[in-house]
Amino acid sequence: MKAYERLLQYAAYDTQSDHHATTYPSTAKQLILLEALKDELRGFGIEANIDSYGYVIGTLPGSAGVSAPTVALIAHVDTSPDASGNHVNPRIVQKYDGTPIVLDPRKNLILDPAVFPWLKDNVGQDLIVTDGSTLLGADDKAGVAEIMTVVERLIADPTIQHGTIKIVFTPDEEVGQGTTHLDVSAVGADFGYTLDGSKVGEIAFENFNAAGVTASFIGKSVHPGSAKKKMLNSIRLASEFDALLPLSDRPELTEKYEGFNHPTELHGTCEKTTAEYIVRNHDAALFERQKQDFRNAAAYLNRKYGEGTCVLEIREQYQNMRGLLESRMEIVEFALDAIRKNGLEPIVEPIRGGTDGARLTYMGLPCPNLGTGGYNYHGPYEYASIDEMDQAVNVVITLLSDIAALKK
Ligand SMILES: [Zn+2]
Repeated sequence: MKAYERLLQYAAYDTQSDHHATTYPSTAKQLILLEALKDELRGFGIEANIDSYGYVIGTLPGSAGVSAPTVALIAHVDTSPDASGNHVNPRIVQKYDGTPIVLDPRKNLILDPAVFPWLKDNVGQDLIVTDGSTLLGADDKAGVAEIMTVVERLIADPTIQHGTIKIVFTPDEEVGQGTTHLDVSAVGADFGYTLDGSKVGEIAFENFNAAGVTASFIGKSVHPGSAKKKMLNSIRLASEFDALLPLSDRPELTEKYEGFNHPTELHGTCEKTTAEYIVRNHDAALFERQKQDFRNAAAYLNRKYGEGTCVLEIREQYQNMRGLLESRMEIVEFALDAIRKNGLEPIVEPIRGGTDGARLTYMGLPCPNLGTGGYNYHGPYEYASIDEMDQAVNVVITLLSDIAALKK
């Protein structure tokens, strides 16, 4: 079976995760696909299990006589809460001709290369697009489909030598909880790769350092008619606070290695206002500087209006995996070689976000992220290239057989 055929199968499962849930996984419907994946692995005659959190871990034993590092291949089954994943109705565009693709004429929803210039690289390829009413779910079912196809190919062709492969499918990546309950020692791999990137040939091993900030502002509520020299409106405090943060650190003004601060939530009354921010930077020193900007702004308000006016809580969320991977760069080199051997030019781009791989790296499982051939994630413009999905499968097979050729 080809990887894209599996993507079409998996896309039929609604696996949207939920930010506000208190269960794990956040939505029970993810378990339906996870169970099916466990069964599909078992159908290949290999060991596969699902635990109470929904993690599926399968084991493809290494070829006879091969002594190589154990490699984990990891993908997530959930789709973004940002767009519906219910009743996904994919359509195949054969031999894409480079013109705008009308997804839904009624809503005037068009996948237009003028808006998404990377579509030009997909000319001549077969694409899978949505009908405009849902996302596609290539993030990350393209990765799941490719891993499954790799396993199938390796079993079918014993001439391809490989070490032990651990297959890991996870829930809740999109709500930042993909690795929360994963027992890395149970995976038992020396290193791994997440298949959760975009264009095939992409390899990412740098992500943001990330923190969340809750800023609380305490005002003095007085009837506005008699407020003179008495009222302190906490909504205005929050506004003043935000204005103290560097303008240049806004996401809409940053790209590549530039970090940002971003308010994600604001609610308040005259009496009390709470603002939530996220803070992101690849560079550890600049990341510290950005957190200091928040402390400085809070200190300024507390000097101006009195101690306790602004209370900050800064929470570390995740770290750039590059720091840890730097001593294990062969893991990146294996992938770069495998990409080149498949006639592709590697694309090394910093991730402007976090990945499960970043968290896994810090949990002891070094884990760069590879491209899958999916694009425009988290909305109706999402699409996947069938040709790139095939190439992604080939890259992983090359990667695994190259690693097997090494001495452990
Ligand atoms: Zn993803």
